[in-house]
Amino acid sequence: ALALAGCGRSDDGGSGGGSGSGSGDKFPADSLIGVSLPQKTSENWVLAENLFNTDLKAAGFKPDVQFANGGVGEQQNQIQSMVTKGAKVIVVGAIDGSQLGTQLKAAKDSGAVVIAYDRLLLNTDAVDYYVAYDNFKVGVLQGNALLEGMAKKKPNGPYNIELFAGSPDDANAKVFFDGAMSVLKPKIDDGTLKVVSKQTDFKQVVTQGWKAENAQKRMDTLLSGNYSSAPIDGVLSPNDTLARAIITSTKAAGKPVPVVTGQDSEVESVKSIMAGEQYSTINKDTRNLVKATIEMIQAIQKGQEPKITDTKQYNNGVKVVPANLLEPLIVTKENAKEAYANDPTLSKLTN
Ligand code: BGC
Repeated sequence: ALALAGCGRSDDGGSGGGSGSGSGDKFPADSLIGVSLPQKTSENWVLAENLFNTDLKAAGFKPDVQFANGGVGEQQNQIQSMVTKGAKVIVVGAIDGSQLGTQLKAAKDSGAVVIAYDRLLLNTDAVDYYVAYDNFKVGVLQGNALLEGMAKKKPNGPYNIELFAGSPDDANAKVFFDGAMSVLKPKIDDGTLKVVSKQTDFKQVVTQGWKAENAQKRMDTLLSGNYSSAPIDGVLSPNDTLARAIITSTKAAGKPVPVVTGQDSEVESVKSIMAGEQYSTINKDTRNLVKATIEMIQAIQKGQEPKITDTKQYNNGVKVVPANLLEPLIVTKENAKEAYANDPTLSKLTN
């Protein structure tokens, strides 16, 4: 409320008017804001829940932040009920970005603004904006880290590797993979990298539900089927939860830990990196992503244009969704101390 008190909000004309530009507020500055989050498949979602609750309140809004641990049906019901309760903005981190069309249309029909958070909403025109870390760039950083980590241990290839991707219902999974493959594919083609299992298609390497147990099972099978005599030098892992499952599997198979990438800067993975096991992670500071989202909501509330950095990359099948993309940062043992210097939890782990 404090931040907005000085900007001359009017309680009358603005609401539902869709004024777009200039003077009037689009909706009252103390409106209900719905935030629909997916399952707790990684720590970033739990951090986001807390931050949205605290920071939306601090900005004067009424937050309604929900998880959909029960799956897609639960998320559909949640969004529908946010619409019924009169939410003026609905922020969605989708479990399956292509299954929410009906509820998002209802949101738009009610006059609400829809923001895709972290994961894109697919095959619908009922999405106004996207706010996320640059997902393709995340993949590129992972691909480069894998090459760099293996070269540190053994200057020249060929290197034996395996590839893992995230959950196929999450629009990000393919983008992370494509980013990584933009770096790795040329090296597979020229023989520097050998995917011993030959599983290189996205569909062959996905991990349903981003579940650790699924990655661990697949890694067990890959190791027993392809690496009984050959060494494994590296594994492309799309995030930290799966990276730790992959490391657990290689240890159980009695293999030295290969170079394994990650993402999210989860506490256990930062510890693993400092201990010299997991090679890399990505810092996508959730505090900054939530902050960018709330700034977007504040701009919309005041009838202003929110900050957009990209109007090309994110075609959702129906439209190109204007996006505010933040820069992800690669983190290894070498730069962990600087990377987490202003993070109260992670900075304690890097000394
Ligand atoms: C997020 C990742 C996360 C994954 C699993 C993705 O959509 O961008 O940061 O690791 O979901 O929760």
